[in-house]
Amino acid sequence: MNTPRTFQVKSFGCQMNAYDGERMAELLVAEGLEAAPAGEADLVVLNTCHIRERAAEKVYSEIGRLRREDGSSPMIAVAGCVAQAEGAEIPRRAPSVDIVVGPQAYHRLPALVAAAAGGTRAVDTDMPLASKFAALPGRRRQGASAFLTVQEGCDKFCTYCVVPYTRGAEVSRPWAAVMDEARALVDGGAKEITLLGQNVNAWRDPDSRGDGRGLEQLIVALDRLPGLERIRYTTSHPNDMTEGLIRAHAEIRTLMPYLHLPVQSGSDRILKAMNRSHDTQSYLAVIERVRAVRPDIAISGDFIVGFPGETDADFEATLEIVRAVNYAQAYSFKYSPRPGTPAAAMEGQVPASVQDERLQALQALITERSLAFNRASVGRRSSVLLERPGRKPGQKVGKTPWLQSVHVETEAEIGNLIDVDLISAGPNSLGGVVAGAANLTGEAA
Ligand code: SAM
Ligand code: SF4
Repeated sequence: MNTPRTFQVKSFGCQMNAYDGERMAELLVAEGLEAAPAGEADLVVLNTCHIRERAAEKVYSEIGRLRREDGSSPMIAVAGCVAQAEGAEIPRRAPSVDIVVGPQAYHRLPALVAAAAGGTRAVDTDMPLASKFAALPGRRRQGASAFLTVQEGCDKFCTYCVVPYTRGAEVSRPWAAVMDEARALVDGGAKEITLLGQNVNAWRDPDSRGDGRGLEQLIVALDRLPGLERIRYTTSHPNDMTEGLIRAHAEIRTLMPYLHLPVQSGSDRILKAMNRSHDTQSYLAVIERVRAVRPDIAISGDFIVGFPGETDADFEATLEIVRAVNYAQAYSFKYSPRPGTPAAAMEGQVPASVQDERLQALQALITERSLAFNRASVGRRSSVLLERPGRKPGQKVGKTPWLQSVHVETEAEIGNLIDVDLISAGPNSLGGVVAGAANLTGEAA
């Protein structure tokens, strides 16, 4: 096989995968490869997600679709969590795959590509002790809003979750490395940085002694970076919401009023079976403390329906907590048994038809709440960070501090923060006009 000159990285799943995809692309560019559109690349990196079944199945159909009309395929690398979980099984099931590389080993991608070009199929699912980050090239220019992974892995072992197995133990990146990367992102044009981690609020500076500097101190330092206008962080675990981090929501101007705090279920019995290490009462207490210091904060969450043993009453308790918290937004999933996790072997697996019904009911309630949250914004003026062009000519799409998407017609360039009068709302986005231009009578632009 020839040494590839062009590449495409296709990422599935969470924001941490999107970040890894960007870093792999930077690595390949540093090696002299050029990004190419779908269908034209010599090397395709499928950066996979293993959190639910369909995500893994998607990868195999994706591999099949890469076959060209003449029967040949580009060089194919499978990266991410499916690569970690399935390893050498992938090329056995899909022989056109040349490289399998896990999420902690992708800094070695150039060497694996060279080996594959020399005819050696390479599987690297090592979890080296030295962090991959030090081996990656510097950040290239990103958009107005950039991701920055500060923490990886998880030691919490929820009984349904593959993350502790695919991403490994919880590791925080050092303070200096995070600050250097943040400065590079701001120098490259980022106005907003979202700090990422499987349990981002468990971040502790590994180089500091004693109690260690936590996420709140990092946010305070980032707040002082000239040019950085907005800071976000995701995903947080309820048990790691410290008083300091909660206080930061009241005190730090650039820390956006949005908190993604998954609860997973409203039933304490199910939370126990999930090994979540919090109950509904302690979760609600955290929400109350956050709202006490930042009353306008938008709360979002994750839910799993149809966990083994979940009864109608347990599910009703989940609907109840959605009503009690009044989420601005939430993600909900059908429980998917993950091979090797304790829940996959539990009794009382819930039939797919029941899971479907519960998911529909939950999503209907969440949509109703999101719509109510967005409608309450209509009539207000909000700052909006313009992130991408919209579908209509002249239209741009940006975000409010509460992470609502806003469609607005404006000449202002992507990357600018502008004031927008919000004039219409749906469950997933708002319509607005540049501040001062609205008669605020109701219709979207
Ligand atoms: N660490 C975060 C937490 O504990 O809230 C979440 C990380 S996980 C990558 C993202 C979400 O995927 C979880 O919050 C959960 O709702 C969902 N998830 C994880 N494993 C799942 C499974 N086996 N079936 C369905 N959803 C799952
Ligand atoms: Fe998975 Fe639980 Fe860890 Fe979140 S806290 S990554 S759900 S094991």
